[in-house]
Amino acid sequence: MNVSKLRQNVERVRQRIAVACERAERDPSAVRLVAVTKTVGADVARALVESGVTDIGENRIQEAARKQEALADLEINWHMIGHLQTNKAKDAVRMFHLIHSVDSVRLAEALNKRASAQGRSVPVLVEVNVSGEESKYGVPAAVAIDQVRSMAKFPAIQVRGLMTMPPLVDDPEQVRPLFVRLRRLAAEIKTLGMAGVEMKHLSMGMTQDYEVAVEEGATFVRVGTALFSGI
Ligand SMILES: *Cc1c(COP(=O)(O)O)cnc(C)c1O
Repeated sequence: MNVSKLRQNVERVRQRIAVACERAERDPSAVRLVAVTKTVGADVARALVESGVTDIGENRIQEAARKQEALADLEINWHMIGHLQTNKAKDAVRMFHLIHSVDSVRLAEALNKRASAQGRSVPVLVEVNVSGEESKYGVPAAVAIDQVRSMAKFPAIQVRGLMTMPPLVDDPEQVRPLFVRLRRLAAEIKTLGMAGVEMKHLSMGMTQDYEVAVEEGATFVRVGTALFSGI
């Protein structure tokens, strides 16, 4: 592994986030970089944390558990960003600081049950399929408000915002309208003032489109590939 190249990549992504913030007149401290380590080993994840990364995202429970064990001596905020099966809810509640990918009332119900049993409450984001692509996980935008309302009724679930995963595109401008849609949806939910729901976070933007996502209000960007080129 080329650690200095890794550091350079982290710096470059941070710089681009800062410039996007400037364009949008946003405070860069309002945007958190979640380094997505699903394609690399614990050694690279460790080097990321030693380069100042505080937040790590994984999309599989087993791989996350492996890395958590290897990195137990470090202070890390762990993010679950992948589709979660209800039978993994118990592990997910225990392992993650934030679950970005709650994509059904059924999953929220399972998380609620497990969190209650562990005497915890679990902060989550609701994943919304704003593109309408059939292959994507996420609550359809048309029913998102109803589903958030249903999830809000679970006492051990804290809804803290929305997440989306747009389709792969060549030009990031193509997904800007989807980010705008997610932001507007969050604003609409906010005006409804549901008990137990805060629309504080928008998790959107990955390597292909994180700058556009920041311009449109992302508070978490989930970046993998851009951090690992040439290492
Ligand atoms: C892999 C992944 C990312 C990061 O994608 P890159 O293109 O590597 O930056 C972001 N979000 C989710 C949900 C992912 O699974």
